[in-house]
Amino acid sequence: MIRTVRPLLSALALVLTLPASADIARLPTASPVPGGVALVPVPTSQASLKGRPVMVVSAKGTRYAEHAPWLAVVGIDLSTEPGTLALNAGTQTISFEVKDKQYREQRLTIKNKRHVNPEKRDMERIGRERKEMLTALGNWRDDNAPVTRFELPARGPFSSPFGLKRFFNDQPRAPHSGLDIAAPKGAPITAPAPGVVTAAGDYFFNGRNVVLDHGHGLVTMYSHLDRIDVSVGDRVKTGDSLGTIGNSGRVTGPHLHWTVSLNNVRVDPMLFIDPPAK
Ligand SMILES: [Zn+2]
Repeated sequence: MIRTVRPLLSALALVLTLPASADIARLPTASPVPGGVALVPVPTSQASLKGRPVMVVSAKGTRYAEHAPWLAVVGIDLSTEPGTLALNAGTQTISFEVKDKQYREQRLTIKNKRHVNPEKRDMERIGRERKEMLTALGNWRDDNAPVTRFELPARGPFSSPFGLKRFFNDQPRAPHSGLDIAAPKGAPITAPAPGVVTAAGDYFFNGRNVVLDHGHGLVTMYSHLDRIDVSVGDRVKTGDSLGTIGNSGRVTGPHLHWTVSLNNVRVDPMLFIDPPAK
């Protein structure tokens, strides 16, 4: 008797111990604030915000599934005023609330004055590079498997959070658009998720710089590198080398400036990662 029952029991035990959510998409942390990410249940597999497509993933297996079959993963621009935003999903308009968030100030002293007040001859290069970066960061590429979470691209303390209101040599500049990870020159930088390299080169402010396109409007950028290990068009897997930490471009010391862009707005990378083990 026992012989017939035991296999049944162990099969049952296996079913019970398998995570019921093995195939659940691991979503970004919902934070509907300027510079954050909103998770909005939608009735269709496509949605847009102000005419631009936003990432939509299956809501199956998530706590949003009872509200709708699909979930829009929406980046909210830092300059957004708190209030209501509206997504277009098919023939429907789906509204969601953006809450207020106050970011701290940061004052930095940059030794290279040209990096604070560029010379006339720098302006053409800066303009060209900004255009190139905005195109790369705002790109939309369909992909079979949307990326919604990241591994850490580098090991080291988080030296400057996303969103700081910045002053360079007491002059107001654009807010901090990424997360700074401090590490010694030469430390490895690896791909935090699968993606395609869409830019790799040397830039006035960003220094040696790589852009990875993860699809569905999710794009990441790696700035101030010492060495670049990839070329435009390369497909990378999680953990593949992108290059090494450096201090190229506008910096006060060696670190990785890591940018996460979603539907062409810069958002807080912390929403996509697990807190690093101490
Ligand atoms: Zn930075």
